[in-house]
Amino acid sequence: MARVYNFSAGPSMLPEEVLKKAAEEMLDYQGSGQSVMEMSHRSKVFDGIIKETEKLFREIMNIPDNYKVLFLQGGASTQFAAIPLNFMNGSGKADYIITGQWAKKAFSEASKYGEARAVASSADKTFSYIPKTKREDFDKDADYVYICMNNTIYGTVYHTIPDTGDIPLIADISSCFLSEPLDVTKFAMVYGGAQKNVAPAGVTICIIREDMLGKARDITPTMLNYKIQADGDSLYNTPPCWNIYITKLVLEWIRDLGGLSAMKERNEKKAKILYDFLDSSKMFHGTVVPEDRSLMNVPFVTGSDELDAKFVKEAAENGFVNIKGHRTVGGMRASIYNAMPIEGVEKLVAFMKKFEEENS
Ligand SMILES: *Cc1c(COP(=O)(O)O)cnc(C)c1O
Repeated sequence: MARVYNFSAGPSMLPEEVLKKAAEEMLDYQGSGQSVMEMSHRSKVFDGIIKETEKLFREIMNIPDNYKVLFLQGGASTQFAAIPLNFMNGSGKADYIITGQWAKKAFSEASKYGEARAVASSADKTFSYIPKTKREDFDKDADYVYICMNNTIYGTVYHTIPDTGDIPLIADISSCFLSEPLDVTKFAMVYGGAQKNVAPAGVTICIIREDMLGKARDITPTMLNYKIQADGDSLYNTPPCWNIYITKLVLEWIRDLGGLSAMKERNEKKAKILYDFLDSSKMFHGTVVPEDRSLMNVPFVTGSDELDAKFVKEAAENGFVNIKGHRTVGGMRASIYNAMPIEGVEKLVAFMKKFEEENS
């Protein structure tokens, strides 16, 4: 069967070049006589892989030397607890901006450990916009401010990073990781699960400024203690070796395409094709205010549940899969991460046009 265009929000498409390279190296990784899945995480060969992956991250994301790059497990959701355990240990207070389900989950997890405060929320309009905040909105004593940068379910993104003054800013970048340049120095920590834009599910990358480390509460589980993980170079226990290896291949793919500014250009081009069509269509409409639209996740509706269902079904029959929207938004959602080729979006829009003609 031909490969489909997979618009899944995650796990999602990986670059075909990466899959081919992984297949080529599957049985014998660079003359080692074994697959990366089989080798010791303490071996020289794997040490080369994890070091190279970190080096590529630093190069491509322009990560300063005073930040640690950690390869952890447990997904983004585990960091929802690890973040308060590691950092909510000064005033015991933290400010959260609620822009959707992932931010909400992080907030409720933090509420178990301290005084988490929802500073702003866009729940009033089904998270279809990013609430504006000013520096004065945040509690000067807060141990950190937390945001979800790109809201996978609702299709919004921060185009401007909130000004939190001296309060450390932490961002979940799971669904916009490596999609465009990001000024890491504006953050005390950024992190994300890999399965949206980086690698298969199983590795979580945490990029943390060094001065944030060493403040964890005594009760912090060893595995969730960022300082212990940093001191062990992500090898305190067995790391997700295979996922780290695929991360390396994806980073090489990004580097060879010209890095994150090239990625941004490509992603803007793809998103524009879809948004331009949504803005001109009489049948399909985007659900997000134009100024906060994500480049990665594009939710849209027809206004009729019946027509939405028909579209999702016929799209799948034509090779555009996983395009059904999240149940809290309804309609459709096209996730167009880095690995989605431009032709995938062009063909989807052509299909949408045809569907509109046939059904109106
Ligand atoms: C998918 C996603 C998560 C959850 O990730 P897991 O790795 O499944 O825990 C958290 N935040 C955002 C923004 C996501 O897109």
